[in-house]
Amino acid sequence: MKPILREWLTEAEARGLMKRVRREVSPIHELAAVGKLLEPQYGAFFERVAGSAIPVVTGLAASREAMAQSIGLSVRELPDRFNDALTRLTPCKTLNREDGPFAVKAHILTGEQVDLGILPACLHHEKDSARYLTAALCIVKDPETGIRNVSIHRHEIKDRSHLGALLLPRHTNQIFRRAEALGRPLEIALAIGVHPALLLSSQATTRLGVDEFEIGGTLLGEPIELVPCETVDLEVPVECEIVIEGRILPNVRENEGPFGEYPRTYGPRAPRHVIEVTAITHRDTPIYHTIIPASMEHLLLGGIPREAAMLQLVRQTTPNVKSVHITPAGGCRYHAVIQLDQQYKGEAKNAIFAAFASSSEIKHVTVVDTDIDIFDTQDVEWALANRVQAGRDVFVVTGAMGNKLDPSSADGVSDKLGIDATIPVDAEHGRFQKIHIAGMENIRLEDYL
Ligand code: MN
Repeated sequence: MKPILREWLTEAEARGLMKRVRREVSPIHELAAVGKLLEPQYGAFFERVAGSAIPVVTGLAASREAMAQSIGLSVRELPDRFNDALTRLTPCKTLNREDGPFAVKAHILTGEQVDLGILPACLHHEKDSARYLTAALCIVKDPETGIRNVSIHRHEIKDRSHLGALLLPRHTNQIFRRAEALGRPLEIALAIGVHPALLLSSQATTRLGVDEFEIGGTLLGEPIELVPCETVDLEVPVECEIVIEGRILPNVRENEGPFGEYPRTYGPRAPRHVIEVTAITHRDTPIYHTIIPASMEHLLLGGIPREAAMLQLVRQTTPNVKSVHITPAGGCRYHAVIQLDQQYKGEAKNAIFAAFASSSEIKHVTVVDTDIDIFDTQDVEWALANRVQAGRDVFVVTGAMGNKLDPSSADGVSDKLGIDATIPVDAEHGRFQKIHIAGMENIRLEDYL
């Protein structure tokens, strides 16, 4: 599978996953509203966006099925393939300037030509402070090791050549602090308009010092091809649409936000990092990608890599775990449902401990049996209703680390809840068996209507 956005868009349209909007839309709320109404069933390609010559796509992979299809996989295969990619990296292939010309270098804007205003960046939610870039891969290199890091952050457009950035205490932030300690800016490249597999790989739960593009290479079954930037010593995917080059300024912080975030609440305004843009390069008629915050596209990009990491950790202690689902209503961060083929008393509770250990964001964990579809919230609630006695099956751990964006937490300090919704191992099974109409699975309704 070629990691090319345009090829996936053609495929997505052919599969009926993408709607084309020909009417002109405003990037101020209107585009986000239409995109939000179409997802998760459809992504949207907006041909004409007011104030910009550049079309916009959103919901590249707006459902779990679409995300899997974009990599040529089924939903079932995705977590194991993602895990495999985490442990078996595929080095990138860096092209030389002589290998060009490259489509993404068709237009090179530097110095006074730099103008972020050419982009159809969207104002998504009502109280957002400004237009934001939400789907840019953020590429930096560790000044000590030279190893690349790839991630996604939100970027507030401040003026023609400055972006605000929220760098949570993760890898980009860690790497920037190393540069800042030396009194130096950190070079950064933002790649917009990339294949869903690269977006997904960038969200991998991995240690500092792993190049997320090498995870993407394994996921796609071929090395990611990169091309050098113009004004910074970094490389970007050759098959992207728009590149913004710049540097994160040392010892500079400016107010950024508020911004509507994945939990469907606003992240507050506070002093944050500032990027000075040194170049913009793009294709002829590039495609701009925006991820609508808290859309299924946004949530799944966070959720699927977290599920893979959780599955790996939980299976170390509880090998009979079949699958895990980190659910969208919990922002694909807080709520996990684990499917367990329980053989021994107490296994469900061990699985819950391991799930908490997989991410500090995990808050409530439910374990169910293999006859429960963990992707069907009705079925999971049925298990809670029929297989849980709170005094026996529910436990709470108080005062652990959670997520600051959870408004119910005490500045990130959060309780954890485990629910064992499995049938007791020694129970008489018939009491817990689901009803079933014999032969229903063989009925074809069209034969009767
Ligand atoms: Mn990283």
